[in-house]
Amino acid sequence: MKKSQYDVVIVGGGLAGLSAAAKLSHHGKKVAVIERGKLGGRAMTIKMKGFQFNFGAHAIYGRDQSFLTTIEKELGLRLYWSDFTQMKAKYDLGEEVSVVPSNIGGLIQTKLLKGMDKFRFAYHIMFTMLGFEKGDPDISIHDWLENKKVSPAVKEMMLNLASSNFFTGEPERIPSDVFFGYYRRLFKTNIPVSYIQGGWAKLINEFIRIIEKNGGEIITKTKANGIKVEQKKVTEVHTNKVTYTAKDFIFAIPPEELRELFQGSPIESELERYKNFEPTYVMFYDIGLKKRIDSSYTYIFDRDRQIFITDISYYDMEAAPPGGQLLQAVAYLKKNEVNDPNAHEKIKQRIEAFYDKHYDGWRKELVVPRVSKVAVVQAIKWTMNQRGLPTHFSNLTNSYFAGDWCQGAGQLSELSFSSAYDVCQRIIKEQAAQNSA
Ligand SMILES: Cc1cc2nc3c(=O)[nH]c(=O)nc-3n(C[C@H](O)[C@H](O)[C@H](O)COP(=O)(O)OP(=O)(O)OC[C@H]3O[C@@H](n4cnc5c(N)ncnc54)[C@H](O)[C@@H]3O)c2cc1C
Repeated sequence: MKKSQYDVVIVGGGLAGLSAAAKLSHHGKKVAVIERGKLGGRAMTIKMKGFQFNFGAHAIYGRDQSFLTTIEKELGLRLYWSDFTQMKAKYDLGEEVSVVPSNIGGLIQTKLLKGMDKFRFAYHIMFTMLGFEKGDPDISIHDWLENKKVSPAVKEMMLNLASSNFFTGEPERIPSDVFFGYYRRLFKTNIPVSYIQGGWAKLINEFIRIIEKNGGEIITKTKANGIKVEQKKVTEVHTNKVTYTAKDFIFAIPPEELRELFQGSPIESELERYKNFEPTYVMFYDIGLKKRIDSSYTYIFDRDRQIFITDISYYDMEAAPPGGQLLQAVAYLKKNEVNDPNAHEKIKQRIEAFYDKHYDGWRKELVVPRVSKVAVVQAIKWTMNQRGLPTHFSNLTNSYFAGDWCQGAGQLSELSFSSAYDVCQRIIKEQAAQNSA
């Protein structure tokens, strides 16, 4: 069997694996990325009848505070952004719609908070930004808000925001320290939500460009199916045809794949803990329309139905052909709905009714729909009983872990970027120390 030697081998070519490979190669490391399918993982873009459907809304939260921006600047990624128009983000209140109060302008205009509650909400934002509200790892945000006797309207507002940012129908279950840690960063942002022109595909292509420019190797349609561990170190990663050796390894593959690969290794039992952890599941239903249906909002969220619609093509000019429109509806799934075809059908009908309400006439303009009944938004949902995987285990010294199932800053893709960035920094530092020793 052929053997190849690298500074760092990265297993998994999703956002975490590719961003890590791009950063390491940019810093002079000889890298190889092994991906079992196509590059991009869950961050993929599919072209159909002139529309670019992204798996997911590719919304980047708090871009100016994000690790993706740090990576973009450091590597010189050529990305073009379109920032969300805050006043076009609305809540559906049944009979009327109201602005989402995620900045001062929104706070003044929103109908969701009245009188003193606007000040109370502003007070919580200020205290969170200043780091005074820290929460407690042993207390859920629900209990924290109860204990502090936060007014019902402010409580509902805070949970509504978390529903959108964490993509969950059960924001009450978020640990309070995670909640406040998240909003400490997000409330400081000047750009709450942004989209990449060209969607995930553009970002993936930029990572590929950097990796290839720096001599990195990308191997697709090749599964890593085994590892060799000697003296607390991974020394080899096996594929069907090639054995890869490296000083360090990054495993940017989800927990169930990790458990398979690390059977019999020193971290087998540690990985067992994550066996029954729940992901965040959604159903999405995108529609490509031949003619734009105008509306005064580009994002509309209905907490009762647990659905939101984003006008993707308003922000991403490449998402629809000229004059057309690409809308995306995302519905949060409860645990008991994930494997229930009847529930899927009901949710699909609910989404269609939501489209009817806000984009009347869409059926007439429909060119192509794209429905995914069950999609994993985040591989490990952060609740009171479960949090992300560590990025390193002391009994496996040269192996690191990255992905949206890992511990890190932010949620969703930001977890992939932050965990990948963190492990790259450690590898660069440790290899420099080894070289100078
Ligand atoms: C519907 C939906 C909406 C979303 N919306 C947003 C959003 O608006 N904003 C946002 O920030 N995020 C969003 N996300 C989340 C975002 O897509 C993910 O957080 C991100 O893509 C995860 O990237 P990753 O690299 O961590 O994991 P993955 O994409 O899962 O990458 C893992 C990779 O490892 C490969 N692999 C697995 N096993 C092996 C093996 N043995 N050998 C080789 N390769 C292997 C897989 O094929 C895969 O490519 C959304 C996701 C969905 C599904």
